[in-house]
Amino acid sequence: MVRENEIRDGESAVALPPRYDAEVYFIGRIRTPWDSRLLTPRQGRADGPICHIEIFEPWVAALEGIGQFARLEVLYWLHLSRRDLVRQSPANDVTARGTFSLRSPVRPNPIGTQIVELVGVEGSFLTVRGMDCLDGTPLIDIKPDRTLFTPIAPPQPGDFETG
Ligand code: SAM
Repeated sequence: MVRENEIRDGESAVALPPRYDAEVYFIGRIRTPWDSRLLTPRQGRADGPICHIEIFEPWVAALEGIGQFARLEVLYWLHLSRRDLVRQSPANDVTARGTFSLRSPVRPNPIGTQIVELVGVEGSFLTVRGMDCLDGTPLIDIKPDRTLFTPIAPPQPGDFETG
């Protein structure tokens, strides 16, 4: 069940620390069709609507070369999320789980990540498919999808052990 800012039965909040450890640059803004958290998809889909990612100056030059990648990993700041819940009840049914066992937008650092299809690049705008955030969500970073890369280091003993 998608939330706004309520605390549900079974959930726990903490007092937020008085200071931050780091600052980030918002390098752009994500333009999507959604203006309500309640209507935004829980996870982006490959067949989702076309969305746009606008890059701000002075970061536009950093887009050079991006058009060669079919998929991108997008990191964004879920700016309307509360940040103080350590146990959450996604189904709002009294049962709660730890925040780090969930992909909930409510977390100490409300960073969202999504793999999107790159449909086009025009100037400072990327056209993508597969987003799941509100219109106007601040952009933190863009990287080529890691699965498009072959590891440079040869496999090491133990790499594929599962136990
Ligand atoms: N795909 C990302 C991930 O897994 O890290 C985000 C998943 S999160 C479950 C997506 C939900 O976050 C949306 O359904 C919406 O309810 C909420 N959301 C989207 N944009 C937001 C924003 N800017 N601020 C706060 N909540 C947002």
